[in-house]
Amino acid sequence: MGALTKETKLTLLYIVIAFLFSIALRMIWYYQFSGYEPFIFNSQLMINTNDGYYFAEGARDILSGINQQNDLSPIDSAASRLTAFFATILPFSFESIILFMPVVLSSLIVVPIILIAKNLKNLEMGIIAALLASIANSYYNRTMIGYYDTDMLNIVLPMFLLWSIIWAIKTNEDKYLLITALDILVYRWWYPQSYSLEFAFFGLILFYALVFDRKNLYNYKLLALMMFAMLNLDGFIRFPLVLAAFYISKRFDKYVYHILAASVVLFFASGGFNPIWVQLKGYVFKDALVVGEEGMKLHFYSVMQTIREAGKIPFETFADRISGHVVTFIASVVGFAYLAYRHKIMLFGLPLIGLGFIASVGGLRFTIYAVPVLAFGVAFLITEAARFMPTLRLKFLTMIALTLAILYPNVAHIQDYKVPTVFNVDEVKVLDKLKNIAEREDYVISWWDYGYPIRYYSDVKTLIDGGKHDGDVNFPVSFMLTNPSTVSAKMARLDVEYTEKTFKSAQEQIDKNLTIFSNIEQMTKEYGFNDTNDFLFSLQADMKLPQKSRDVYFFLPLRMLDIYPTVSTFSNINLMNGEMKNQPLFYASKMFKQEKNIVNLGQGVLFDLESATVTLGKNKMPVKRFVQTSYDNSMKFQKNIQLSNPTADINIVYMSSYNTFLVLDEKTYNSLYIQLMVLEEYDKMLFEEVILTPLAKVYKLKI
Ligand code: MG
Repeated sequence: MGALTKETKLTLLYIVIAFLFSIALRMIWYYQFSGYEPFIFNSQLMINTNDGYYFAEGARDILSGINQQNDLSPIDSAASRLTAFFATILPFSFESIILFMPVVLSSLIVVPIILIAKNLKNLEMGIIAALLASIANSYYNRTMIGYYDTDMLNIVLPMFLLWSIIWAIKTNEDKYLLITALDILVYRWWYPQSYSLEFAFFGLILFYALVFDRKNLYNYKLLALMMFAMLNLDGFIRFPLVLAAFYISKRFDKYVYHILAASVVLFFASGGFNPIWVQLKGYVFKDALVVGEEGMKLHFYSVMQTIREAGKIPFETFADRISGHVVTFIASVVGFAYLAYRHKIMLFGLPLIGLGFIASVGGLRFTIYAVPVLAFGVAFLITEAARFMPTLRLKFLTMIALTLAILYPNVAHIQDYKVPTVFNVDEVKVLDKLKNIAEREDYVISWWDYGYPIRYYSDVKTLIDGGKHDGDVNFPVSFMLTNPSTVSAKMARLDVEYTEKTFKSAQEQIDKNLTIFSNIEQMTKEYGFNDTNDFLFSLQADMKLPQKSRDVYFFLPLRMLDIYPTVSTFSNINLMNGEMKNQPLFYASKMFKQEKNIVNLGQGVLFDLESATVTLGKNKMPVKRFVQTSYDNSMKFQKNIQLSNPTADINIVYMSSYNTFLVLDEKTYNSLYIQLMVLEEYDKMLFEEVILTPLAKVYKLKI
């Protein structure tokens, strides 16, 4: 060992440059919004991804040593643990740590990229690919500052895996056996769904070994160690197994096949194939709507039906997401083919490209997997082009000019990508205040989009959240928010108590191999009905509610107005036969103008003040009520209700302080959300106001 070689120094220099570049570009959002009060809480910018609050809740509970049963807080998740670890050792606030973790961790992507290029003796290709991959659209979008989610390492870890596989195959050095296995252990810890990619790598190496390098024992050692790392056993068991297998295979070549055989047997015995099998089964037996194989076979509305992401993506979007521009994308694909032709070893990157291309059917979120490997493609073309330049100076200039050209669309994208934080500080202040009012075991009911942030800021429980939002759990919450508060209050008590009851009985049910029925189905049966519609109808009459075990709150943010129709869809279904009911009328307009007595609300909706009628497309209908709400100078809520046609079905609400008109049918007008949030109208026997602000209102259930 002596001084670092020139190549090593250059490698380190390139890594540092690319790493700092990746960090600097992620700071653009920070400077765009630093000092912008609505996005700042606890003197730091808030995060901008909903799911981040899930891991933040887990980290918060780890740090405070809270272990609460059935609260869905992910205290065992890798992301929460790593966050808690950073929060313990670093001198920054928790808010700063979750904001900046994606910045630093996702920028590590440049390390395996440059190290792979070093193996191909083309460091320039490495730095160009690293610069591009670290900020290409989809990778940036899902790892930007404040995008605190597992994505921050989800591509970094398989890229390290690719790096160690490439070095293992090329050098046959023992240390890469161990590094590969350890990387799989870490990757699986971080992201349990990683098995599909691990499998793809394993399969590719197996193919390579059998077809091209059959006599090389090293390949089988590699496969055996990978398989041990992939067993469906706890990481603390896999780790010593990997070490033992490494030791034996290093010392005794003659046992390699035995070890490989043992790893395969253990793999199947431990159920390692199960996740794949479950996935295959999912594709074969598609029956998303019906929950349970016995019982009432209720038909719930599937959340997949509302997620747009699962749709088909146009080619241009797809290309932009992977490379920032269609031209760059095409150059990347061509360049990668050429690179793989010149350096066959790069074919080991195919599983990542393959997963990225699944995006064309599986949704945009997969595109990031293809980003780093395809970045090698265009980077290789650039270094090849530079090779033809006669002078060193021209070579250098060519590389710089072309690199800037491919970076430009991505940098422009970053400058325009001004995503907001999940909540505004005024909403967060409400939740923060609620934390001191509600107990940790209390429930706060709201739509699932707000579940994680509610749990994080208010330290309470929720019925639905970003991970728990299937049709059967969404149904009762949708029902509560969109039905009259008299029946919604009962449903709230019922659903909370049945949720807790089900938590307690779930393990027993699973042990006895019994189906766990939805809360609604349990309620229907226990109240003596065999038709859910009859049960729901019975909520209108007096009924005996379950024993109250805790308090229940409703969190009603103004922003739910934007998604009211989606919220209502989940309960606007006949659970007995799956038929959708007529869509309730809900129309909100912020763009309107008045000409004489006609208010034009856009989309062909005209409100005639004089005759108290509303025109919807071709139909002209009488208006039942015209309601105007406002905040007076002392921020006191005011409303004025004019009843014009008692028998009509349509209501107009003008929320003057929000510059918003609502056109609502009678059902929507009477819904809990509109009554409690928009009109502050409620039965004092059922609800009690807790926090009322213009952006969010909290009520406590009194039954
Ligand atoms: Mg909790």
